[in-house]
Amino acid sequence: IANATVKESHLAIGSDVISWQTPPVENKFAKGAAYLSGVGYVPISEAKISVTDYGYRRSDATYDVVSVWDGNFFRLDDHIARFRRSMDGLRMHPPESNDDIKRILHEILRLSGLKNAYVAMDCLRGVPPPGAPRRTDFCAQYIICYCIPYAWLIAKDIQETRGAYIVTSKVPRIPDECVDPTIKNFHWGDLTKASFAAYDQGADTAILLDQKGNLTEGPGFNICLIHTSSTPIRVVTPERGCLLGVTRQSVIELCEDMGFECEVRAVPKEEMERADEVFICTTAGGIMPISKVDGVDKCGGKPGPVTMAMRTRYWEKRAEGWHAEQISY
Ligand code: PLP
Repeated sequence: IANATVKESHLAIGSDVISWQTPPVENKFAKGAAYLSGVGYVPISEAKISVTDYGYRRSDATYDVVSVWDGNFFRLDDHIARFRRSMDGLRMHPPESNDDIKRILHEILRLSGLKNAYVAMDCLRGVPPPGAPRRTDFCAQYIICYCIPYAWLIAKDIQETRGAYIVTSKVPRIPDECVDPTIKNFHWGDLTKASFAAYDQGADTAILLDQKGNLTEGPGFNICLIHTSSTPIRVVTPERGCLLGVTRQSVIELCEDMGFECEVRAVPKEEMERADEVFICTTAGGIMPISKVDGVDKCGGKPGPVTMAMRTRYWEKRAEGWHAEQISY
């Protein structure tokens, strides 16, 4: 049994020593561990919220996700800082400080024993006290943190063989003025609709445009284009209309490391059509190659060589301890 210990016992009776083994007991946190404000630590299957919570009822919540690989958090402080900015932006004030959150995240990983994990921190609006008017400012916010085994947004074998297929969504991204995409949120109506349209077309995922026809982001990722014919190689990613992804920030740093130019600016859809390579990036998968855009092959329908070099370097640097914070299990 994974994550279990066999207990050896010995008992001396006169000159005899009797020994036995207690069968292994599976760690009840092995499938994932969670923390809820006011409740404490529970196995992932026992982490529950109330159906009356505005976090559920109105998607009135914010969250962040950090990855753990080989027992190390990646850019943990960046994720906690963005989580705090998101909470402040939504006027959410849970009782936990940033240091508390960091301690909780370490503890759930320690409890679970997971070495490669998807680690979420959520803040929910809560509910007004019983009988009180249904006013949002009467709610008390709370935090849920949990870890589960690491999950890939695009399956690893697809990344390494054919590359992912993307289509441009006919549904535009909800305007920034309505839902600020820099605050990580649960308003996934447009992203979910775009995902289903992509699956119907045999694609893996979708990219959404803003009202001006510029690229924004997709269901759970930022997008980057590569112009390999320019010197130096140029990587381009949208400036607005998207989450300021932590992986996108890592891509910007990787470009410097690898001698590429990186431009963060408005990126029209047409530029994606003529780009030499396209990739998507996120915490749940890192750098992932796109080999088909709107039914048209990129790089002969294979993952692009520059993308794959960046992807390799990303994972190598992580193994070398880049922005890593070690977990004590
Ligand atoms: N955009 C959206 C809508 C996301 O949900 C995510 C991550 O889940 C990203 C971009 C990528 O952000 P990060 O690299 O910080 O995971």
